[in-house]
Amino acid sequence: MNTRREIKSLGLLSVLDEEPPSTKLSVPGMARERKCRNVDVTTVNNDKTKAFRSKYFPEVTDQDWDDWHWQIKNRIRTHMRIREILKLAPEEMILLNSERAKLPAGITPYYMSLLQADDANHPLRRCVIPTVHELQCGPGEADDPLGEEGDSPVPGIVHRYPDRALLLVLDFCSTYCRYCTRSRVVGHGDIKPTTERLERAIDYIRATPQIRDVVVSGGDPLMLANSKLDWLLSRLRAIPHVEIIRIGTKVTTVLPQRINPALVRVLRRYHPLWMSLHFIHPEECTPEAYRACALLANAGIPLGSQTVLLKGINDNVETMKELMHHLLKMRVRPYYLYQCDPITGSAHFRTSVEKGLEIIQGLRGHTSGYGVPTYVIDAPGGGGKIPLMPEYVAGREGDDLILRNYQGELFRYPDPAGKKKTPC
Ligand code: SF4
Repeated sequence: MNTRREIKSLGLLSVLDEEPPSTKLSVPGMARERKCRNVDVTTVNNDKTKAFRSKYFPEVTDQDWDDWHWQIKNRIRTHMRIREILKLAPEEMILLNSERAKLPAGITPYYMSLLQADDANHPLRRCVIPTVHELQCGPGEADDPLGEEGDSPVPGIVHRYPDRALLLVLDFCSTYCRYCTRSRVVGHGDIKPTTERLERAIDYIRATPQIRDVVVSGGDPLMLANSKLDWLLSRLRAIPHVEIIRIGTKVTTVLPQRINPALVRVLRRYHPLWMSLHFIHPEECTPEAYRACALLANAGIPLGSQTVLLKGINDNVETMKELMHHLLKMRVRPYYLYQCDPITGSAHFRTSVEKGLEIIQGLRGHTSGYGVPTYVIDAPGGGGKIPLMPEYVAGREGDDLILRNYQGELFRYPDPAGKKKTPC
């Protein structure tokens, strides 16, 4: 889709009108906000980004670079543009030249600045640059492995767990992840956040009193204009049985410029509002990402992280520990570590389950408990998330339970009450 039409269809241009990235602002309080934003952001550009900007966007002002609308409008999407910036490997060139890729390519200039230009195995690069491996369908893979379509009573709602519902508001993301679970629907421009469509989904939530927790996702829901987001959140908050609203987003990682005081002012009206942020590698934890998380945390929004375990990208204890430590410093509680879902063409991203267990074992006891996410498999076919833990119960001897600690040492715990329940 044409970028300008795409942006217009999402209502982003109306936000440009509301909050123009210029000095014309005359809304009380906004001038101060604008100034704060500029000072904040320009002082936190990381070194890689600075070098990238001076090479590829030398004329772009700080004000434009720090404007999320500018980042969206200047996303890097075509083979030719990607090739100007990265030295492509043969397996990358083949798919970039192909019409057969299910998920489009789209990368914000900011996230592109974090990629290694001459290394096709660079972890962040592997997440966003398509490769020929996406065309191979491995055993057990499917376009909708989690069976979301089967749990969708109305368009835009996935209702799997009795008290929670997933609201998919649009199919647009600023940057597309090649391992995306929803690559069957994301990025095609078919799911638009029209009022009519959203009203239907909200009606379903309103008519279903057992739903106490709504996860607003997509695509990336923070690609909505502030006014649309405000409208959506106010409608959800007006439903008496909706206790918690959660937003799932990747903008803190790929478009931290989206987190600005104007957005935070909208979000903080709808507490209790939680956010799940998507980080996969320590190199994403830039000063820009730190700043974005600080703005959200300072607004009282509890932050959790969702990380997908990815082969050759973050599948070792050191990388994962470094990421978890960054998240804790950013006031983001590591929440889930996902085994990569068996979506079509994802085999090159998937590790064994043993690898995931090994990583959890390497974290538990070796760092603070807050830094250990729950490792889960989202069961194919719609079974929901199933947690996986290394085995810490070594057995039972008489009245004692035999436990293994993080160093592999065995300890006895008196547990006569459990004797009948766990015979061994
Ligand atoms: S940001 Fe989320 S929805 Fe968008 S492509 Fe990445 S994983 Fe998929």
